[in-house]
Amino acid sequence: MGALQRTLAAEHLGGTAVLTVDLDAIVANWRMLAARARPADCAAVVKADAYGLGAAAVAPALAAAGCGQFFVAHLVEGVALRRVLGAGPEILVLHGPAPGAAPGFAAHRLVPVLNSLAQAAAWAEFGRAQGAPLPAGLQVDTGMARLGLPAAQAAQLAARPDLDIRLLLSHLACADEVGHPANAAQLAVLLEVRRHFPGAAASLAASFGMFLGPAYHLDLVRPGAALYGINPAAGANPMRPVIRLQAPVVQVREIPAGAAVGYGHTWRAGAPARIATLGIGYADGLPRALSNRAGAWLGGVRLKLVGRVSMDSITLDASAVPEGALAPGTLLDLIGPDCDVDAVAAEAGTVGYELLTRLGDRFQRRYRGGGL
Ligand SMILES: *Cc1c(COP(=O)(O)O)cnc(C)c1O
Repeated sequence: MGALQRTLAAEHLGGTAVLTVDLDAIVANWRMLAARARPADCAAVVKADAYGLGAAAVAPALAAAGCGQFFVAHLVEGVALRRVLGAGPEILVLHGPAPGAAPGFAAHRLVPVLNSLAQAAAWAEFGRAQGAPLPAGLQVDTGMARLGLPAAQAAQLAARPDLDIRLLLSHLACADEVGHPANAAQLAVLLEVRRHFPGAAASLAASFGMFLGPAYHLDLVRPGAALYGINPAAGANPMRPVIRLQAPVVQVREIPAGAAVGYGHTWRAGAPARIATLGIGYADGLPRALSNRAGAWLGGVRLKLVGRVSMDSITLDASAVPEGALAPGTLLDLIGPDCDVDAVAAEAGTVGYELLTRLGDRFQRRYRGGGL
């Protein structure tokens, strides 16, 4: 149903939530990060469909702004991105080739990030069969124990003539904690391995790493989250907000004091109340953990979410706004000028990354800017 649903939602038959993605803001964020990184290069991470915002719209806008390197997680994401971007930009695939997948990388000119001796051996063998080593990135596990080769193993690969390692990369585990000792320790390990690969560029920083200081920028930075408006800094958010998520009122009702709202009757009106039901729920990616938390905004007024988040709807205490202010179809902000991604995520006990990547496909999606 997904593809047809997206097409129909785009026609906006009404009743669904509206997700507005500001491509100009994403481009401005990339430009700001690129300026901050200079003289290092600045790539863009567009895995998970550009963190849920739509890689088919986001990536071309960034390429037009001068971004020449893109990262995705999986081969299938890389193949889809190549179709969208055409031949020019470099596309790197973080998870590297699964067994037997090397020909798929070559067919779409995707550069694998090699994470293990097995992946390195398979890529080298494929290159030999093609007549020459093919470019690759190499991920070093400098202290996260997630992906990549241990430093000593990685250094040994430097001597192999059947590998063409263009990029040496690693990922920080604790970049969101500025003073965490793991940051400097991971940097030191990567710099040590780098001595064995004089011809390769080095990359360590993602969004948060870019705000640890220029020592972390090396040759290439790989921001994702910050492009999409998530705050990568310890203080005030230097990024432009990118998304607005609005949901329509479906019904408004008056309830007497003592009436209970929603599944499990987890909220009860202490006084007569006006309840507004909005057409958005956890099936749209609104965390169920927001039950009896958070709220929606109407012209600077916050209406508290009361009762549980249902699959397709939420209920708000709208007693504070005049009766005429809410009618079926009135749009309220769930994420927007008064409530940014990070704040809503925090109320749900999660991070902006998870909130964004879970946004559903029942929305009408509107793209602004980006030359559209
Ligand atoms: C996801 C990812 C990034 C981007 O991280 P952000 O925190 O979103 O900037 C960079 N590098 C690697 C290896 C990743 O997995």
